[in-house]
Amino acid sequence: LLQLSAPLFLLGMMYREVKQALTNMERLFGLLDERQDVQDAADARPLAATRPSVRFEAVRFGYDPRRQILHDVDFEIPAGGTVAVVGHSGSGKSTLARLLYRFYDVDGGRILIDGQDIRRLTQASLRGAIAIVPQDTVLFNDTIFYNIHYGHPDARREEVEAAARAAHIHEFIRSLPDGYDTQVGERGLKLSGGEKQRVAIARAILKNPSILIFDEATSALDSQSERAIQAELERIQLGRTTLVIAHRLSTVMNADQILVMDGGRIVERGSHGELLARGGRYAQMWRLQQREAQGKG
Ligand code: ATP
Repeated sequence: LLQLSAPLFLLGMMYREVKQALTNMERLFGLLDERQDVQDAADARPLAATRPSVRFEAVRFGYDPRRQILHDVDFEIPAGGTVAVVGHSGSGKSTLARLLYRFYDVDGGRILIDGQDIRRLTQASLRGAIAIVPQDTVLFNDTIFYNIHYGHPDARREEVEAAARAAHIHEFIRSLPDGYDTQVGERGLKLSGGEKQRVAIARAILKNPSILIFDEATSALDSQSERAIQAELERIQLGRTTLVIAHRLSTVMNADQILVMDGGRIVERGSHGELLARGGRYAQMWRLQQREAQGKG
């Protein structure tokens, strides 16, 4: 019986291992959550631009045809510029990111990158040009090296370390007994929210994208980590066309343009200063957050 149960036990372990890996993959792609049912057009071409502009033109969209989520959304991120989106939970912010990555096609209007409708681009070139730093980074049950390298599987070890350095996580990794070979994920070292987000930033840096989507974490980091991550992001944003989905207004102050969304519509837009001066929705949100921050001491 013992002889039989040992291999069975191993088999069980392997099964769990494989199942876990599959679950991780699903969750990773699940970060933007859904099926991929969009196809390359027959005459699809690769995206050529290295500093593209991004433009949403009268975009309409619903996950379900009976429930429209986005209503005529119009905005442009100039080449190398930053647009930040704020608004209540459920107002449609993350949906913009999902459409830009082409997890879904729009129901009306179009999305242009460098003047080209994204439905005419090959998906490989579109997704190769975009890096996403998600709200909640899912790590593979593998080494920390693997988890960063994943951003650009052809990268050499030095490049992985350079990306980690730029994301300010290299020193931390070096301080671990097994360094870059440390196992992370559910069954390894549990990284904190801030550390995980730095891994995601390192991945994004390694990918060297021309378009960056940053979906800010909703879970509050301590203010020191938040400032540090903020500074790293500002650095990697330089020269890249960036869409920031912001949950805290402190993140958006430096954006070229801020969009305020409500019920799938852009209800206000402008720079931080312009929006404060207008005394509308944004100004109200700002006062509220200031008060909350003061309340916390
Ligand atoms: P949050 O700040 O909470 O992340 P958000 O502004 O990013 O919210 P979205 O995730 O864009 O909001 O969601 C907009 C609307 O679309 C919500 O009402 C949501 O219920 C709906 N929605 C999102 N994903 C799906 C989906 N896969 N199927 C159906 N409806 C969805």
